[in-house]
Parts: sequence; C-alpha cells; structure tokens
Amino acid sequence: MKSVTQQVEVPFHRAMVGEEEVEAVANVIRSGWLTMGPRTIEFEEQFGRYIGAEYCIAVNSCTAALHLALDAIGLQPGDEVLVPTNTFTATGETVAYMGAKPALVDIDPRTLNLDVLDAKRRLTPRTKAIIPVHLSGQPCDMDEIHAFAEQYGLHVVEDAAHALPASYQGKNVGAISEITTFSFYATKTLTTGEGGMIATNDMNFADRMRIMRLHGIGRDAWKRYSKAGSWRYAVLDAGFKYNLTDMASALGLVQLKRCDQMALQRSIIAARYHEAFSFQEALETPTVKTDRQSAWHLYVLRLNLEKLSIGRDEFIEELRKFGIEASVHFIPLHLHPYYQKKYGYKHGDFVVAEREYERYLSLPIFPGMTDAEIEAVISSVLAVVRMNLR
Ligand SMILES: *Cc1c(COP(=O)(O)O)cnc(C)c1O
Repeated sequence: MKSVTQQVEVPFHRAMVGEEEVEAVANVIRSGWLTMGPRTIEFEEQFGRYIGAEYCIAVNSCTAALHLALDAIGLQPGDEVLVPTNTFTATGETVAYMGAKPALVDIDPRTLNLDVLDAKRRLTPRTKAIIPVHLSGQPCDMDEIHAFAEQYGLHVVEDAAHALPASYQGKNVGAISEITTFSFYATKTLTTGEGGMIATNDMNFADRMRIMRLHGIGRDAWKRYSKAGSWRYAVLDAGFKYNLTDMASALGLVQLKRCDQMALQRSIIAARYHEAFSFQEALETPTVKTDRQSAWHLYVLRLNLEKLSIGRDEFIEELRKFGIEASVHFIPLHLHPYYQKKYGYKHGDFVVAEREYERYLSLPIFPGMTDAEIEAVISSVLAVVRMNLR
C-alpha cells in the first residue's frame, strides 16, 4: 500500500544502543560474574546520584518495583489504591497482586494525568495509597497530590516508568515522594532490555525492598557466592526473585551517561512536532505545564474529531500507509475485560478518559531519529489531516 509519495519508513521506536553497550555487557560476561553483583551496585549508586535519591534498588522490571513498593508500605488485602485509568496494566495489576483493589481515577483533559479532584471523589475508608503516573513523562500535580495524601493519610508511590529524566518545580522525579519506580523496558527512555529501579529516601522502605527483591533473604544475599560472602543466610520472609543482572546493569550504566543528551534529543523532536502541528486546527499538541519538565517518553497527539472525517483508528491506518508507525497510550484500564469482571468497572465510568482515548495517538519520538524521519512523520501527519478534513 505505498501509493503515496512517502519513502522513509519510521518505526515507533528504535533503542539507542551501540558499541559501548555491547562492550560493557561483553566485559561482564568475560568477568564470569553474570547475575547481580558489582555493576548492579554501581548502577544503583550512580542512578541515585543522578536523580538525587538516597537509596536506589535495581530490579528486573518496573512491575517488580511497583510490587515491592506496595509491599513496603504495608498494603493489605481489601485495601484500595488510587490509580489513573489511563495507564499500563502494570500499575493496576501490582495492586491486585497484594489482594488490594485498584480504585481507578479519571484524568485531567489538559495533561492526561490523574485528576486530583476525581481522586478525592473515589476515596473510601479503605484507601491506603495513590499511584500518580507521569504519563508521557510529564510529572503529575505533585503539590496537590501530596496535600491530598497528607490530608487523608495516604502513601504516595510514583509510577515514573515514563519520567526519566523529568522534574517538577526544579526537583527531579525520583526525589519527590516516599517511593518512585522507574522502568528500563526496551522502549523506555533508558533501557536495559528489561529492568527497573526503585528510588526512596526512607531507609526502612529501602531495607525492606532490598530484602524482598531477593527471596526475603537478609542483607547482601547476592554476595553469598562471592569471596566476600558466606554460605550462611537467613530467610526473613517469602520474598521475590526480582533482582537485576550485572549484564543489564552494565548496559544501564552506559545509558545513564547519555540520559541527559537523549532527553535533549527527545525534547527537540517534541518542539519540532509542536511547531509543525500547533497551527493545524484538526490537531491538538501536548502541553507541558510551565513549572515542570517532561522526559518526552511519548508524544501524544490529539485529534479534533469534529474537524476530521476519520477517527483515530483510521488515522493510524493512514499513517501506516505512509510508513509511519503510531501507537496508543493507553486503552483505559476500566475498558479491559479483567478490570470489568473483577471490579465491576464499565464503559461510561470515566468520561474524560474515554473521550480522550477516542482521539489520542502516540507518534514516534526517540533519540537517534534522523532529520528525514522527523520530517517524514510531520509531512505524513499533515497529509493525512489534509486528505481527511471535514
Ligand atoms: C512500561 C510501564 C510499566 C511497566 O514497566 P516494566 O519495566 O515493563 O515492568 C509500568 N507503568 C507504566 C506507565 C509503563 O508504561
């Protein structure tokens, strides 16, 4: 279906990894120590310094990080946790792991982030925590969230899977709340293939999460096969197998050095999209509030459907004909069979999230995108709009 003039094909994402990463991973393999070890400890230290958090705990996914965080705050079966409905299922499923209920919350149409006023409406006596998700990389309204959490005695666990690096009122995401979780999944802003990091300034939480990360075994369990370690260990709880390997950490250390530069490249692409699309009335470009900086993990474009003769799904299909891969973040949780069956959510429960879901799509945005690729996205989006104006 290449009837159109576009020749440059643009994938939704391409990881920015190169020979330095290959060399770093190869060195770990040559060292003979493959699982969690010195590289992972170094990754935790450097990550903590980078974002300004006291304790960092490397894990094998952000999902694991969220699970450990909810365990650390002492979430109990029957408790409820406020979660925005337009997030990835990991945010909600980890609440379900604990036997607790993800109490879904509608979103703010300006930012697509959790709406704090709606969160207030969803409070019950069982509500124990709130998980703000910094969608696309734009930090949530953390002042409002903290004021709300303090008033009702809630824990705050930030899902920062999209928000590395991002800042709110000059403070890095990761140094703002009790616990913050990051993802190093293949498509995220820093990748180790699979991986995650927990940041906290609370020593007790850090201790608990370190222990539960590796089988519930007491301190420094990872050293038990090294010269510095001992065969003797004590199991303190039924923990998990969530540790990160040194191969992944070596990759992450290289990526971390480039984190600022990769973020700059993302923001430049976002600025070019903004310039190209903001004048077009059929399109609505994302806005970042002035007191915060987005990581631009995603570029979420919204369609003004009343100006177009096609819907979002067709728009994505049309872009594909031009060789441009777009995606959607996210299908709101309350529209999925699991959340409907288990918790009774249904169509119509979250009006804003549903309305916006019908009209948003995510465009390719990644460091290493060539000029030709950026131009191809811009010209294709504008062409699809022109061909389908009402
Ligand atoms: C990717 C993602 C996660 C899960 O990250 P993993 O590292 O793949 O477990 C959690 N929350 C959000 C919002 C995500 O986008």
